Amino acid sequence: MKTIKKLSLWMPLLSIALACGSAPAVAKPNVILIFADDLGYADLGCYGAEKIRTPHLDRMAAEGVRFTDFYSAAEVCTPSRAALLTGRYPLRSGMCGDVERVLFPNSKGGLPPAETTLAEALRGEGYSTMHIGKWHLGIHEGSRPLDQGFDHSFGLPYSNDMDARKDLPKGATSSATPPADGWNVALMRDGKVMEQPADQTTLTKRYTEEAVRFIGDHKTKPFFLYLAHTFPHVPLFASPDFRGKSKAGIYGDTVEELDWSVGQILDALRKEKMQENTLVVFTSDNGPWLIMGSQGGSAGPLRDGKGSTWEGGMRVPCLAWMPGRIKPAVSSQVVQAMDWFPTAISMAGGKLPEGVAFDGTNLSALLFDHQTLPERPYFFYRGPHLFACRIGPWKAHFHTQGGFGGEPKQSHEPPLLYHLSDDPGERENVAPRHPEVMNMIHETVRKHKAVMVPGTKQLKSKH
Ligand code: MG
Repeated sequence: MKTIKKLSLWMPLLSIALACGSAPAVAKPNVILIFADDLGYADLGCYGAEKIRTPHLDRMAAEGVRFTDFYSAAEVCTPSRAALLTGRYPLRSGMCGDVERVLFPNSKGGLPPAETTLAEALRGEGYSTMHIGKWHLGIHEGSRPLDQGFDHSFGLPYSNDMDARKDLPKGATSSATPPADGWNVALMRDGKVMEQPADQTTLTKRYTEEAVRFIGDHKTKPFFLYLAHTFPHVPLFASPDFRGKSKAGIYGDTVEELDWSVGQILDALRKEKMQENTLVVFTSDNGPWLIMGSQGGSAGPLRDGKGSTWEGGMRVPCLAWMPGRIKPAVSSQVVQAMDWFPTAISMAGGKLPEGVAFDGTNLSALLFDHQTLPERPYFFYRGPHLFACRIGPWKAHFHTQGGFGGEPKQSHEPPLLYHLSDDPGERENVAPRHPEVMNMIHETVRKHKAVMVPGTKQLKSKH
């Protein structure tokens, strides 16, 4: 009788164990992607900033890998986010516009439901998933965070300067100047408006509290946290603890508060002893918004900024941290936002969805074994148009255009060529001296175009 009772107590556990197969030797690692908005290449201490203090990010860099040649997938918000979460050039998902560069509150389009996001793929591997912060991948059914693989969402549906009360004219950029009736963007939780207008002075604090709570609630189940900060995108707001404290005005204040936020998250992981089983990546969606002057960031030695395929528009800070697993290093390998999808899937022990073209590479060998990855080309798109291509130190521009309000579009035949190791500021065109490099790049681009299948344009029209 006793034995039967004991058995009946154990049977449910036994059947769970049998159903799950043998338990994994090592728990699946957690993944946290922290995405700043419009943070420039030179806006962190570990990338040369002198007026902005970022001790937590500097420590993260010292304990992990700091990438010197990391590229976002686009020079503006929406396509950059689409590529990060799908592991594909934004042209493939149709999440790049031409005249309309990003989604506006009255845009029709959004991330197509058919796309597999990293959240969906990791959820398929047993992960809990959460989105915190800016979304900007569509507000209509099928494109929203809960439709795209996130169990929960807390944040803004789009940029903090996009106001549902005004109908922005076609092609309009936004402004740091508030509309007469004030900013009106809503803070939402799981698709429902919580607060409108959102109190932006406390957004970074509240995002951080959500993130720390989510980490604390998931000590025993693997999770994916996508924390897409609202700042330092204009309009800039910092909480009273940070307002007026940096030497770089309100821009510096917001970045110092982001640094504090990263410190809180890494401390929470250390406190729970989860740091050796959690990959944390910190990066930015595109370069600094230079026309904002003192309210925009800095690309340091790089040319131009947000909105441009010159280096300053797309080469951004990127740090990867996982103490005990990732050995400290500074890497000058060319890596890019779309690499995190296959890297995370590999770490989770999963497989990439079949029948889908992915554009990233699994970085595990680089991160965990300090191996050098094979050289591969990187393609710079502006909207649906291929503007430039980098291979090794060489970057060829077929078209150039400055960031918003900058130099107009120019096409180059023959293309311009720069040697980025010698000339990171892209000042001296050396194409005439290197015809063999130009031939190699032309051939690489020809092959790329032959296999690139554009998706249906999602950013084409508005209501
Ligand atoms: Mg941005």
